[in-house]
Amino acid sequence: MITDRDLQELLGFSSPETVLSVYLNTEPLEGNAETLKLRLRSMLEVVSSPEDKAAVLNYFEHAHEWKGRSVAIFSCAARDFFRAFPLAASVRSQVRVGEHPYVKPLADLLDSFGGYGVVLIDKQGARLFLFQLGELIEQEGILGEAVRHTKRGGASSVHGQRGGTAGQTRYSEAVVDRNIKEAVEFAIRFFEENRVRRILIGGTDGNVAQFRSHLPKAWQSLVVGTFPMSMTTKHTEVLARTMEIGQQAERHREARLVDAIITSAAKDAGGVVRLDETLSAVHEGRVQTLIVQEGYRSAGYQCKGCDYLTTQKLATCPFCGQGFAEIEDAVEMAVRKVMQSGGDVEIVYANPSLEKLGIGALLRY
Ligand SMILES: [Zn+2]
Repeated sequence: MITDRDLQELLGFSSPETVLSVYLNTEPLEGNAETLKLRLRSMLEVVSSPEDKAAVLNYFEHAHEWKGRSVAIFSCAARDFFRAFPLAASVRSQVRVGEHPYVKPLADLLDSFGGYGVVLIDKQGARLFLFQLGELIEQEGILGEAVRHTKRGGASSVHGQRGGTAGQTRYSEAVVDRNIKEAVEFAIRFFEENRVRRILIGGTDGNVAQFRSHLPKAWQSLVVGTFPMSMTTKHTEVLARTMEIGQQAERHREARLVDAIITSAAKDAGGVVRLDETLSAVHEGRVQTLIVQEGYRSAGYQCKGCDYLTTQKLATCPFCGQGFAEIEDAVEMAVRKVMQSGGDVEIVYANPSLEKLGIGALLRY
C-alpha cells in the first residue's frame, strides 16, 4: 500500500547519481517466484549501477513476501535511498533509470483505483469501504434500530385496538427512514475524512434510491455507480464488483473528459492538446487535469535553469536564457510536475481521439 506521503516523497526526490525504478508484475500468471526473479535479473541487465541492482535483487531474495499483484521499487544507493511498495493492482513490468523516481505507472494506479468510497446499505445499517490502489479496506459500519416485522397474530380480530397492521407498517417505515438518514450522515463523514472523489452504492434498488435521495447534491454528483448487493456479501465479492463497476465508470468519465478538452482546445477556451502546447501550460502552472494516452512518451528538452520543457531544440530558454538538456521522456516530466503542483493526471486507455494527439490538459484559467 502506498500512501499520499510516500508519493509526495517520491515526487520530491531527485539525484544526479540516478535513481533506479523497477515495476514488477507478480501475478501468478506471470510465473512463480523463481521465474520472476530470473526475469528481473534480465530486466536489470541494462542498469549500470551495481549497488542499485544488488539492492533490488537483495530485496527480492530476503524481504519480499510475494503477496499482492505487483511491486514498485525505487533505489538510489548513492543517496542511501530504497523504497519498495507491494501493490494490490497489477502493473506492466519495466525498468527505468533517471534523475527521479519514475512515477507515471503509480499516477495511473491512483487515477484508476484511488479515492473510491463504497457503501453497502440496507434498511438497518451500512458498511463502508475505501477502495485504494486495488485494495478494498473495510473501514466502518453503522447499525441503526432493528426493523421489526412483528407478527400481529390475532391483532386484527381485536376491534378498536390502536395501531394494528397499518400502524406497524408506518412505524417500520419511519425506522427505516431514520436508519438510512443516519447512514447517510455517517457515510458523508467517512467520505470527507478519506477524501473520497467517487462513490459506489450497493443494495436493493429501493434502499439505494432512498440513500441517494438523502445525499446532499455535491455528494450525489460523485456517485459513479450503483449495484444490487446484499449486506452480508463476502469481502472478495464486494472487491470484484467494485473493480468492475469502477472501471466501467472510469472509462466513461475519461471519454467525456477527452471530448471536453478537445472541444475547449479547438475554441481556445480552457483546454490544450498536443505535446508542445501542453508542456507550455505545465510550465505556466495552469494545468488542472493532465490527460495522457497510455504508453505515450516522447523525448524532449528541459531547461537547466527553470525546468521549462519543450520538444523543440532551442539554443537558449525563452524564459530564463539558460541552455537545455536532452531528456528521454518529456511526458513523464510533465506528469511529475502536474502531480507535484496538486493537479490530477489521467492515463487514458484506447481512446481513438486522444491517440492522434497523445496528450492534453484541462486548464485552471
Ligand atoms: Zn529556462
